[in-house]
Amino acid sequence: MKTKTLRKDKVNIITLGCSKNVVDSEVLSGQLRANDINVVHESKKSDHNIVVVNTCGFIDKAKEESVNTILDQVALKKRGRLDKVYVTGCLTERYRQNLETEIPEVDAWFGTMELPLILKRFEADYKSELVGERLLSTPAHYAYMKISEGCNRTCSFCAIPLMRGQHVSKPVEQLVAEAEGLVRRGVKEIMLIAQELTYYGLDIYKKRELPRLLHALAEVRGLEWIRLHYAYPSKFPMEIIDVMKERPNICNYLDMPLQHASDPMLKAMKRQITKAEMDDLIGEIRARIPGICLRTTLIAGFPGETRDDVETVKAFLEQHRFDRVGVFTYSHEENTSAYGLADELQQEEKERRAQEIMEVQQEISYQKNQEKIGREFKVIIDKKEAGRYLGRTAFDSVEVDNEVIILATQKLPIGEFVNVKITRAYDYDLEGEVV
Ligand code: SF4
Repeated sequence: MKTKTLRKDKVNIITLGCSKNVVDSEVLSGQLRANDINVVHESKKSDHNIVVVNTCGFIDKAKEESVNTILDQVALKKRGRLDKVYVTGCLTERYRQNLETEIPEVDAWFGTMELPLILKRFEADYKSELVGERLLSTPAHYAYMKISEGCNRTCSFCAIPLMRGQHVSKPVEQLVAEAEGLVRRGVKEIMLIAQELTYYGLDIYKKRELPRLLHALAEVRGLEWIRLHYAYPSKFPMEIIDVMKERPNICNYLDMPLQHASDPMLKAMKRQITKAEMDDLIGEIRARIPGICLRTTLIAGFPGETRDDVETVKAFLEQHRFDRVGVFTYSHEENTSAYGLADELQQEEKERRAQEIMEVQQEISYQKNQEKIGREFKVIIDKKEAGRYLGRTAFDSVEVDNEVIILATQKLPIGEFVNVKITRAYDYDLEGEVV
């Protein structure tokens, strides 16, 4: 039913949360566009009359941001600046009934697997021929590629399986076609993402098929960098590292969230691995590819975490000297198996522990960066800001890792590769000149 203003519909999609949500929003944009519906992503202008908020429901901070964003859009609607506010994504999947009651101004709520229903609201058809196609919201030279949905793991702190369901892999052929389509549109770098990357294929092929997928993607002409995110450490298929070593366009980069390092915590988190096994795994990976860039993620403040546990994590970082580390504070999530544990630590104490851990990593990162001064790296130029170009090496993923700062003494091609000699190094970022 058209509103009385008869404004031509224009949809703004606001994406919150992780890169997997970014892909979902891009798929929705692609479907709307293919149905001749005007769609923009993250528009700050008031050039649209309909908003779709793609929410995150993972942890407290993310949920708060999602609710605040919804309330902001509802306020715009109340002021007549918007005709419709739709909400989709993980927050809806988890709290639909409460949300429908608490924020009745929202016109419709959609879960994580309800794309056809969203399209119906726009009298648009779901175009299955578009599978693998989407409207990119990232700069043209890189894109995320989601190789599967959902997760079969049972990490006790994690609500993702509640929102994303069981693990479902996308067929190799579909992903290769998707990659070829992305390259045709100028993409040179792809971040492979999933809830749990290494589980790929166990559902549809009854065996781990990430190595086969990597070989197939590495064959895509024009795809210069393939990057692996969200690998799970337990029963880690080492063949992945052999393919990485063999294939020059697969970055020597591995993001493998480990979450903790003390055995009592790993057990309580149901991570299905021990510290000793993680030590061996990291040692084996580094033995196969010396100099590989290892990124990990840790949780501080899990129920029952002692001072000794925190010291174990700090010693673990000193021992393994990861290249990139992110630390989250534990969020007590209902309907997860950890919810039954006593969450006694105050948020301040959790943040103090996270800070303590990051201070250890900051020093390690600084020292490792010093070793890069004088060396040359292939760098992709992402953008120009304040008279400087910002780029990344093969050891830095988008949004989460370090940047290379290049003073703009000459015009550099955004989205292209240049060789850079490092002249200065900071805690995280590097500075250099084109050679
Ligand atoms: S593997 Fe990741 S997504 Fe799956 S349950 Fe564990 S933390 Fe959650």
